[in-house]
Amino acid sequence: MQVVGELRSIREIIGEIKKREMTIGFVPTMGFLHEGHLSLIRRAKEENDFVVVSIFVNPLQFGVGEDFEQYPRDLERDKELAAAAGCDLLFVPAAKDMYQRGYATFVDVDRLTEGLCGASRPGHFRGVTTVVNKLFNLVSPHRAYFGQKDAQQALVLQRMIRDLNMDLELIILPTIRESDGLAMSSRNKYLSSVERKEASVLYRSLRLARELIDRGEKDALIVKKSMEDLIRSTRGAVLDYLEIVDTDELKPLESINGKCLVAVAVKFGATRLIDNIFVEV
Ligand code: AMP
Repeated sequence: MQVVGELRSIREIIGEIKKREMTIGFVPTMGFLHEGHLSLIRRAKEENDFVVVSIFVNPLQFGVGEDFEQYPRDLERDKELAAAAGCDLLFVPAAKDMYQRGYATFVDVDRLTEGLCGASRPGHFRGVTTVVNKLFNLVSPHRAYFGQKDAQQALVLQRMIRDLNMDLELIILPTIRESDGLAMSSRNKYLSSVERKEASVLYRSLRLARELIDRGEKDALIVKKSMEDLIRSTRGAVLDYLEIVDTDELKPLESINGKCLVAVAVKFGATRLIDNIFVEV
């Protein structure tokens, strides 16, 4: 596995790969890799000749007072894990190269970015769509792999690709979970042992939603109220948002019909965790 940071180097290597007519699978990450990331890399390896993984903690997608500085980093460990999962090229750009002096260009996706994490984290998705665009331009992948864990992000990026006629396929893969259901996340590292136990309430609340919907409940308010009661009964949990939305425009639903996304964000101390499930009735 090669590791490169320079933008010029990645262009050269990608140029060579394209000359050889190899297909490129791409997995963008912020590093501190876990099984969730590795599942994406393994799938990319199965479906492409050449796999690029990027590690970039993108300052543009963090708000003031968020965890940009504290975000966990361990490049040596990431190198080993990425290589073992099938990564051929690890791209680790520097922020000063990605955003040169005078940087002025941004990509915005409307509407889908207004609710859920977009409401809690103003400017977050603008940072995500902008950096992913830049990474796509540098890596020019045939396929890019994203986790359902960040469902809104994946749906926003899917819309961006369609709207801007970008020539690649976005593939969304299932959320990888710990044994108690907690979605794997680099941010789980922030949790104290008590918070770690409490954090399983995110997935428990989503399972409760699924159970109620499977039993025929169609009133989104009733489902949300039950989830909210469960979350509020957990000591350290502070609810950020809890929503049931359609999967096209991500608009809140009153009545549950067709395919919808149940999404939740909960804070434990300073740590904000998100999770979601798709349900279909
Ligand atoms: P991040 O490093 O958190 O920005 O995540 C990089 C990619 O990995 C994104 O597409 C995430 O959705 C995906 N990802 C993160 N956690 C998980 C997980 N538990 N299961 C599957 N994919 C994940």
